[in-house]
Formats: sequence, structure tokens, C-alpha cells
Amino acid sequence: MKTVLSIKGLTKDYGRLRAVNQLNLEVQQGQVFGMLGPNGSGKTTTLGMLMGVTNPTAGEFTWFGEPPTHTLRKKIGAVLEHPIFYPYLSGQKNLELNAMVKECPADNIPKVLDLVELSGRKDDKYKTYSLGMKQRLAIASALLNEPTVLILDEPTNGLDPMGIAEIRELTKKIAASGKTIILASHLLDEVQKVCTHFAVLKKGNLIHSGPVDDVGRGAETVEVQADVA
Ligand code: ATP
Repeated sequence: MKTVLSIKGLTKDYGRLRAVNQLNLEVQQGQVFGMLGPNGSGKTTTLGMLMGVTNPTAGEFTWFGEPPTHTLRKKIGAVLEHPIFYPYLSGQKNLELNAMVKECPADNIPKVLDLVELSGRKDDKYKTYSLGMKQRLAIASALLNEPTVLILDEPTNGLDPMGIAEIRELTKKIAASGKTIILASHLLDEVQKVCTHFAVLKKGNLIHSGPVDDVGRGAETVEVQADVA
């Protein structure tokens, strides 16, 4: 099993607030890795550090065994909390612009639109899309440069039950295509349905990590559920 991500002692302080405290984690190739924790537990801060947009206060991490560099980050696609799309442009045009920004060819656009089931709506303006469709377009955009790893930050937040089910199915489909996925969520149920492995964060501290199958085994379940709530 190949290690995709290795995190050692990763820490982030915002002034006197310690948002992430001495985090140690490993993610292996092919895992759908859930970062589970309530609001404010440090999930977004951790993902920001892994994407190079937030500077760690201490600690280190490697992607594919090497220190994070621009080139390595090209292997990682991310859908963070607030993706930027132009409301009056079509889904297709928005992806073309994103491909330019990412400096990757537009050839993959039909493939990613097909994957997220938006081919039939590609010429409609972004502002006419439902929240679920917007989220699917954001995932399509993150996949444009064929990353090895996909990072999703609370991908089902704010969606209706159908939108939630679609995103969960899509996540599983992308995982089945061979990508490693890191997914932040505050929902134990979501992590159980979608992930193979998970870590539980609480107030910046890692309180549990392991296979998702662990949940459901006696005392540990109670502990995880109590800590996530
Ligand atoms: P959410 O789901 O609400 O985004 P989260 O688990 O992703 O929660 P973070 O957003 O990483 O958690 O926040 C962790 C802590 O760090 C919180 O107490 C938050 O208020 C604080 N924090 C996050 N970003 C900043 C910032 N830029 N400046 C100061 N404090 C911050």
C-alpha cells in the first residue's frame, strides 16, 4: 500500500487560538479518508495547510513521500468551501476558464461533465444550476487536470436529500475510478456511508483514527459519536 499523505506534528495557531494541535496522520492510496469533526474542530484549517494556502505554525507533511511543492500540488484537486464561478457564464465556459487558470488542456471537459452528469446542462448559465449541480460542477473543475487525490470540504453542506445522495454516489464513483479522496465532514453518517477510513478531530486534536468498519464496535462508537456531536 502506497502512502499518499503523511502528516507529522502539524500545528496551526491563530494568535492565541490553537486551531490544529500536533496532528499525525497517514492516508494510503485508494482510501476514501474522512476527516470528521464538529464545526470549529480544525478540518478546514488542516485542508488549507495541505493545499498550501495556510501556513503551518509547526510540523510537516509530505505528499507522495516528498515535501509539498507546486508540481506535487498539481496532483491534488480540491473543492474547498467557496469555489468561484461566474453566474452569467455557462457551466462549459466556466470550466474552460478554470482550465486556463490551472494551465491544463480543455480536452477533459466533456469527460468530467459526463462524470458529474452535467453534459445535458453544460450550455445553461451557472446561475440557473441547483446547489447540487453547482457542487458537481466544482468537483468537475477539480478533476480537470486529472489529479491523483481529490480533497472535498463538506461537499454536501446545504444540499437537499437528493443533492446529498448524488454527491455521495459521485464520490464513491470517483473513488472507484482509482482516486484517493480526503473528505471533511461533520456527519458521522456521511463518513460511514462514503469513507473507508477516518480521523476524528475535536478542538484541533486527533481523538481517533482507523478504518470506518471500527465504527459500530461497542464502546468506540459511543465515544466517537459523543465526540462528534
Ligand atoms: P467549519 O466546519 O466551521 O469550517 P472546521 O472544523 O473546518 O469548522 P476550522 O474552520 O479549521 O474548523 O476552524 C478551527 C478554529 O480556528 C475555529 O475556532 C475557527 O474559529 C478558527 N479559525 C479558522 N480560521 C481562522 C482565521 N483565519 N483566523 C482566526 N481564527 C480562525
